[in-house]
Amino acid sequence: MLLAHKIELRPTPEQIIYLDKACGCRRHCFNQLLEHFSQDGMKWSRAAAYQYYIKEIRLKFPWYSEVSSRVTRNAIDDLGNAFKHFFRRVKEGENPGYPKFRKRGQNDSFALRETPKFDVENRTLRIERLKTRIKMRQKLRFTGKAKQVTISKCAGKYFAAILIETDDYDKKDTDRRTSVGIDFGIKNMALLSDGTVFGANQKLKSNLGKLAKLQRRLSRKVKGSNRRARAKHKIARLHYRITSQRQAILHEISDYVTANYNLITIEDLNVSGMLKNRRLSRAIADAGFGTLRRMIEYKAELRGCDVVVAARWFPSSKICSRCGEVNTDLKLSDRIYRCDCGLEINRDLNAALNLNKYGVDTFKPTLKRTQELSKTGASVPASMVTA
Ligand SMILES: [Zn+2]
Repeated sequence: MLLAHKIELRPTPEQIIYLDKACGCRRHCFNQLLEHFSQDGMKWSRAAAYQYYIKEIRLKFPWYSEVSSRVTRNAIDDLGNAFKHFFRRVKEGENPGYPKFRKRGQNDSFALRETPKFDVENRTLRIERLKTRIKMRQKLRFTGKAKQVTISKCAGKYFAAILIETDDYDKKDTDRRTSVGIDFGIKNMALLSDGTVFGANQKLKSNLGKLAKLQRRLSRKVKGSNRRARAKHKIARLHYRITSQRQAILHEISDYVTANYNLITIEDLNVSGMLKNRRLSRAIADAGFGTLRRMIEYKAELRGCDVVVAARWFPSSKICSRCGEVNTDLKLSDRIYRCDCGLEINRDLNAALNLNKYGVDTFKPTLKRTQELSKTGASVPASMVTA
């Protein structure tokens, strides 16, 4: 399976020179080719483009050799694609614009394919013709062979989108445990019914505090002033950092549950998220939980596990996970759930246990899947088989 992971780079000033040069060479080569094939009587073909590139362009512009030759050859693919779309649309009777010359700052990027053109090691990336390794902000999320890297520049930042041939997501039912419930909370990002806690990242928390402060300051600055523009820029940067930090936690949680469990039960996040996180910074509540649900769902699909989303009315935190009694008096401030049956338990853990039970009770596996599970010897809960 091929999966892509886009990682921000931390290039040194010398590395930036190389990256910009590479983007520039691709653009320049594209424009040279386009000019050539725009002349009267010229007919586009890949072979002709390649010949022209080898025999003319490359010799005319010796500085191309300062970057990997792959980079300039990207331009042949680019123009090929541009012409393909152009001719297809003409054939379909549309009136498309002829391929345009590229300008600096528009989709600045270049791509390299497979070793030895590039390789990834821990948090560094090596690319051909660049002597030093570029630092990456994260490690690769998947294990496997890196097939292609696309380096792009956006708003002054550099990114590497790395395509990896991975078997991380190949179905392995047998390694996984049966089921888990997840509670999303105030103090912790997520608490699982197996007791695993994903805490809110401290850096994220402090950045959210900083963000609130900056936003208050911004509101006091005069509209249209330089100070306001600077403050806005600062906020945009912090927003970006917060988004990345949150993404990292969400990936961690969704990876963990989909790798370790066959059946995952989550709450209907929209409603409970709003209720439970009133006091929590909006910034965590807003985007985070919706994204997490989508992540869990797509990774579950890739790994072949199932997701149950509890109905909105399901009072996950009010039920006793031992005897099933419903405690309607439970307040938001009660951190410990106490029941007449003697159970005293962390409120969030109680909710996670209830969600897990709910999922197991309501999940109706397809017959095929149940057979698969029995074949692999994984334990199928009785309620899942009879449901
Ligand atoms: Zn009870």
